[in-house]
Amino acid sequence: MKIPAKGRAPDELLGELASMKQADADWKGGRVFSLVYHAGDDHTRLLERAHALYASGNLLNPMAFQSLRRMEAEITQMTAALFHGPPEAVGAVTSGGTESLLVAVAAYRDRARKQRRWMRSPEIVLPRTAHPAFDKAAHYFGIRLRKVEVDAGQRVDVAGVERAINARTIALVVSAPQYPHGVIDPVEEVGMIAERHGLPLHVDACIGGFALPWVERLGRPVPRWDFRVPGVTSISADLHKYGYAGKGASVLMWRSMADMKHQFFVATDFPGGIYASPTLIGTRPGGPIAAAWAAFQGLGEDGFLRLTQLTLDAADRVRAGIPQIPGLRLIGDSFGTIVAWGAAPGGPDVYAIADRLEARGWSVDRMQHPAAIHLTCTANHAAIADQYVADVAACAAEVVANPTLGRSGTAPMYGMIAKVPVRAMVKRSVMKVLETMYAPGAIVPDVTSADDPVSKLLERYGPQVDAVFDKVNALRERLRRR
Ligand SMILES: *Cc1c(COP(=O)(O)O)cnc(C)c1O
Repeated sequence: MKIPAKGRAPDELLGELASMKQADADWKGGRVFSLVYHAGDDHTRLLERAHALYASGNLLNPMAFQSLRRMEAEITQMTAALFHGPPEAVGAVTSGGTESLLVAVAAYRDRARKQRRWMRSPEIVLPRTAHPAFDKAAHYFGIRLRKVEVDAGQRVDVAGVERAINARTIALVVSAPQYPHGVIDPVEEVGMIAERHGLPLHVDACIGGFALPWVERLGRPVPRWDFRVPGVTSISADLHKYGYAGKGASVLMWRSMADMKHQFFVATDFPGGIYASPTLIGTRPGGPIAAAWAAFQGLGEDGFLRLTQLTLDAADRVRAGIPQIPGLRLIGDSFGTIVAWGAAPGGPDVYAIADRLEARGWSVDRMQHPAAIHLTCTANHAAIADQYVADVAACAAEVVANPTLGRSGTAPMYGMIAKVPVRAMVKRSVMKVLETMYAPGAIVPDVTSADDPVSKLLERYGPQVDAVFDKVNALRERLRRR
């Protein structure tokens, strides 16, 4: 495909885009979780119009775009107040959770380098449930991650955090909540450890930052996780999740400028001029910032409270319904907007249920270790929560009645990928999928027919190899817990 020789008419193009969109997941209908946070058509129209006004704006130069800088400042001030920050609290808007975390990790590395010049091979201590954006940051910036085990409720083991600290530790991390099961780590306890060791503590509230304050105000007991915990030095929170902004917006908040300043970057010798940049990206798109600002102002406290109440209604109904289904149970003790469920011991194959749910039009988020299904509930799901539980019950019954369903569809592939003890092999398989997707002329590969090591293993040995993997993994788990 090439750029057309002659430009095409806008109406024709917009019509084409609208028709291409039909092939995407139907997120307005509430059958998609975690990818889109829909607060109704009126709110979406506000986001679109605010975005359009600033679609060409660029906060790379705050002098040229003072209005965008002002919106950024107001967003971080509103966030600081919401997170009980001290008057000195500061922050910046980024393009998303990953950018917020990359910037935080880079800043903590540079801060440690300044304070401890002798330090080599920096390390960060974090729960094993922390978001992979930390793995990405560690990979990019040459940092080692010390992952700490979680307890039966999926909370990080506090004693394990303290044990993992050593002379190379540059920061501690906890999540509020972690993405997989929606569980809040013991932030206060880890905050005390951070203070005792003189270490900074980042709270990854990317998913929950703009939900928990409202959950608390609605009267649910929420353990402290924000700047009210003295040891907390920084917090990431995504505007494009429960901030109900358009995509491409998050904030990275700091207790004070003494902490924040390490994230700033300046290049002094570029012939194009002095180059100063507060975050990871260069050009900073104006649209997402304007839309996020409009979302805060448009919803107001009453709007956020109303959306959060609807969200909790949805999550509560799923939480109440799943344990009633024979063989299923909830995973982790989440009380908020996120729910995770899996199989009780001896229960049906979760990945087979997932395939059945997809056949009924649900978009399903599959997890591993343990096999589970994730739901990020939003206000949009209040209307369909009962239907969801009824469909899970029906699909689980189908799988119980016909266990061979676990050997068809995508279930064997997900089962195998979760179990292969040599994780480098899984990585190679997924790398292969990416190479296939980005091959010349390719668009979306069929992951179930990819020519990769895990698929080959599955083809060659089938379910027999499962039992061997189970034994190896059980042994490894026992060694790790020791
Ligand atoms: C979503 C999420 C991130 C990453 O955010 P992106 O916007 O997807 O880059 C980080 N941490 C947690 C807990 C998240 O849920």
